[in-house]
Amino acid sequence: MAVDAEIYKKMLKELGANVQLLAVSKTKTAADILALYALGQRDFGENYVQELVEKQQQLPADIRWHFIGHLQSNKVRSIVPFVYLIHGVDSLRLLKEIDRQAAKTGRVVDVLLQVHIAREETKFGLDAAEVGEVMQAAPAMGAVRVRGLMGMASNTEDAEAVRAEFRALKDVLDHWFPGDGILSMGMSGDYRIAIEEGSNMVRIGSLLFGARG
Ligand SMILES: *Cc1c(COP(=O)(O)O)cnc(C)c1O
Repeated sequence: MAVDAEIYKKMLKELGANVQLLAVSKTKTAADILALYALGQRDFGENYVQELVEKQQQLPADIRWHFIGHLQSNKVRSIVPFVYLIHGVDSLRLLKEIDRQAAKTGRVVDVLLQVHIAREETKFGLDAAEVGEVMQAAPAMGAVRVRGLMGMASNTEDAEAVRAEFRALKDVLDHWFPGDGILSMGMSGDYRIAIEEGSNMVRIGSLLFGARG
């Protein structure tokens, strides 16, 4: 499916001024990204380091690239020179490595901590106590700034379960970032619930670009 301008415009209108749209472009071509770019979209999210680095080299320099996948410490170096926001920081060790690499480039890199909210065992993320440990340690790091939280709800039809997970994440946000945190929650299937529960950044792939093959 090609990018549909009407769907994009409707989405922006629905989100309004307080919820930022991150277009998740993993597996999509440079042409797909440029089609959305031509409509004004500047924030794009990718899950794989190699793919992100290649796209960043090919595409316009004013795109704000978000990394939303699981980041391995040995790959931090490749994205730190240009990445706009890293959503999935799930250990103190990873945060320290981002700080170390960012310091070398002279940048201060913004990140979100990924919190484990889903009941599924397989999803990555910190629990509430671990968020506290990372938040205590973060101010000592000069080249990384923790701006908020990110989470993924369970992949279930049970809307109330999803709502409860999002609500729990918002509670953690309000504790550590009263009034000013980025809350990255909500994808194509659950973004409406996420916004009702306080999301201010939604990560939308398939609704904008069509299903991934
Ligand atoms: C792929 C992905 C998305 C987008 O998913 P859609 O269901 O296509 O909107 C959002 N967040 C993360 C972390 C992803 O990996």
